[in-house]
Amino acid sequence: MRIAIYPGTFDPITNGHVDIIKRASTLFDKVIVAVTTNPSKTPLFSVDERVDMVARVISSIENIEVDSFTDLLVNYALRKKAVAIIRGLRAISDFEYEFQMALFNRKLSEELVTVFLMPNERYTYLNSKIVREVASFHGDVSCFVPKYVHQKLKDKFSTT
Ligand code: ADP
Repeated sequence: MRIAIYPGTFDPITNGHVDIIKRASTLFDKVIVAVTTNPSKTPLFSVDERVDMVARVISSIENIEVDSFTDLLVNYALRKKAVAIIRGLRAISDFEYEFQMALFNRKLSEELVTVFLMPNERYTYLNSKIVREVASFHGDVSCFVPKYVHQKLKDKFSTT
């Protein structure tokens, strides 16, 4: 069985992430969406909330699972017997960081291959940060996130 890990903060999961997950699901037998606590980011949603949102959104895709992890990505991926790490590439701005991470991870483990997937062009300018910012000012983000996530964002900012 060929397993891939799709790691990210998913704070919250957006339609861009979903696009990548669907593409990855056709390439691998199983894709694990792995929610991480990035120490350099202060997430809006807790790990449990982010895992719950991913779980709801991916429930209709058969070969996808959701999990969370705190250790080094490479160690986590090897523990899960994954052969690949999935990353989404939006614009040139993603490239430098992703290139560095991919080469670093290859140094840490030659067995793991990083696979870059491009979303539909309508999601190339979309990231979780802009969704959080617009939602915090009660702007309409309904075309950028799944319905369930939209409701969670509304709940989160309902008192502000
Ligand atoms: P963000 O940059 O939105 O905070 P994450 O840390 O959750 O994203 O990113 C997880 C992975 O998903 C990264 O590889 C990132 O490039 C990718 N990704 C995020 N948003 C999109 C999008 N709109 N289209 C394609 N890939 C995306």
